[in-house]
Amino acid sequence: MEQIRVKAYAKVNLSLDVLKRRADGYHDVRMIMQTIDLYDDLAVQKTKEQGISITANLKFLPVDENNLIYKAAKLFLDTCGISEGIAVDLKKHIPVAAGMAGGSTDAAAVLYSMNELFQTELSLSQLMEIGVKIGADVPYCLMQGTALAEGIGEKLTKLPSMVKCPVLAAKPGIHVSTAFVYGNLNLEQVVHPDIDAQIAAMEKQDLKAVAGHMGNVLESVTISKYPVVEKIKRCMKENGALNALMSGSGPTVFGLFEEEKTAKAAYQALCDQGLAKWVYLTNIYNGSRR
Ligand code: ATP
Repeated sequence: MEQIRVKAYAKVNLSLDVLKRRADGYHDVRMIMQTIDLYDDLAVQKTKEQGISITANLKFLPVDENNLIYKAAKLFLDTCGISEGIAVDLKKHIPVAAGMAGGSTDAAAVLYSMNELFQTELSLSQLMEIGVKIGADVPYCLMQGTALAEGIGEKLTKLPSMVKCPVLAAKPGIHVSTAFVYGNLNLEQVVHPDIDAQIAAMEKQDLKAVAGHMGNVLESVTISKYPVVEKIKRCMKENGALNALMSGSGPTVFGLFEEEKTAKAAYQALCDQGLAKWVYLTNIYNGSRR
């Protein structure tokens, strides 16, 4: 095999809690991660010449060592002692810097692809060990599906698959710095989501209860600086979402719906109100990489 095509899926956080700030500057988190059916397309090809080359459909994305694809490929080649090179063509569909792990999922897809292409037969946990050196979300992006993430996000426990339902995602045209959000988080004042109750709801496949326990402590920071995030949440809820939440440090908001037709009407309402620059109607995705 000389080339492989893979889909790199986006995630949302069905809940996100921050437990404490650590001495090393990272934060201990507790989050429920969920893959959605929105993905980047990657074509990964072996090359005889050494080196890593990246092409992308978005001009503003770095295609040098600052791209997480490059970091993943370099680490993989070094770890496995491979002297050939690779070329990656990225078709980006996941919005960039949106709280949907767009870069991390591309890195995970490259690790997966290289393991196939070079027939290195690394286990999922070996790939995750490489992945965590690139970013805390990369191990989850390798695992996909429904999972509890602890530690800095790299300690993963598989959960019963989330009930499939329509998901509406919307990103306003603002840039939110993850460092700013974590830096301004006041852990004394936030309302912590009841993640154990959400897991229990998941076990019962109770979509309404899962939605009822959605919560993200980072909203307290992002929403006070960017009220548009709250407006998008409100618009989704007023238009039939069971609940709506910011994903990661934002600014993307996602809503869960019981029925496709309600989600479509909410999509239209969001577009009419012009609150978001990018609106996407999708689904929960519990499948494997395809
Ligand atoms: P997370 O949810 O993990 O916090 P995010 O979705 O908020 O991530 P990304 O889309 O991963 O953020 O992008 C963050 C930054 O990483 C961008 O400024 C971008 O320039 C850089 N970056 C590097 N590689 C990639 C990639 N393959 N795709 C997207 N962004 C990338």
